[in-house]
Amino acid sequence: MGQAHKLDCESAAADCRFIVQSENEAEAIELAKNHMKEVHGANYTDDELRADHLQVV
Ligand SMILES: [Zn+2]
Repeated sequence: MGQAHKLDCESAAADCRFIVQSENEAEAIELAKNHMKEVHGANYTDDELRADHLQVV
């Protein structure tokens, strides 16, 4: 079956329990980027999210 792309925000912000999981990498990145911006006021690029925060599960 397909792999899922997952971002567990708890690893980036200790008090945040937000998790993004999608089989579509572009969608996972988009959701994660919106969350980081709206909730944490942080601007990440797609590459930063992909390299530092997104896991393949
Ligand atoms: Zn968060």
